[in-house]
Amino acid sequence: MPALFVGHGSPMNALEDNSYTRAWRRIGETLPRPRAVLAISAHWYIGATAVTAMARPRTIHDFYGFPKPLFDIDYPAQGLPELAGEIAELAKPVWIGADHDQWGLDHGTWSVLTHMFPGADIPVVQLSINSLKPMEYHLELAQSLSALRDSGILILSSGNVVHNLKRIDWKAENHGADWAHRFDDAVMQQMTEDPVDILKVREHADYNLAAPTPDHFIPLLYTAGLAASAGRAAPIVKGYSLGSLSMTCYGVGM
Ligand code: ZN
Repeated sequence: MPALFVGHGSPMNALEDNSYTRAWRRIGETLPRPRAVLAISAHWYIGATAVTAMARPRTIHDFYGFPKPLFDIDYPAQGLPELAGEIAELAKPVWIGADHDQWGLDHGTWSVLTHMFPGADIPVVQLSINSLKPMEYHLELAQSLSALRDSGILILSSGNVVHNLKRIDWKAENHGADWAHRFDDAVMQQMTEDPVDILKVREHADYNLAAPTPDHFIPLLYTAGLAASAGRAAPIVKGYSLGSLSMTCYGVGM
């Protein structure tokens, strides 16, 4: 099963029909049908590594100030409690907690899946991003989870390679600032040539502007870790939104 990194951008993409959402739709139509999706979203960034283990994860509206139709969205996918057990087993000796009542599916996951799998007929499990761990931890955890790809699990990382909300330019609809282009291009070179060494991009002059907080960058590390066994990741969508968001997506084994 391929693995994906998706630049999710604004929650409004859940409702919109634009070049990015149409690309997500095409990806969903062309992928082999997965047994389940394991989603790693920038928006479940907590002080623990946990995986959702409920039979029916709730749809979480983890944002403010957006129009009511966005709060009305329900993504009624089932969970897959036994997958939580498989993940915990593969990750050992890293400990992964089973979440029965704290989280569910946040918009990093459902704003993409509502286009990729609009029928919500594929079970979805979310893995948290442990904010207390160094970046190397996420790369290594991804590598230990790579066996899931052989058992029909689509590992979908959802963040943004460039994500700086303080630099948003509302007039720059589908454009990126010069520094956003530079960093996105450097990441693309690293992902396509040597994803195992993705952490090198932290030395890039524009890293602090592109990733002022690590939450939207870390999902990329999971895809880079999964690409380690495949050799490389390939860009499948390239683009920008509002000057300071990169919408670039990568596929592994597509
Ligand atoms: Zn986000």
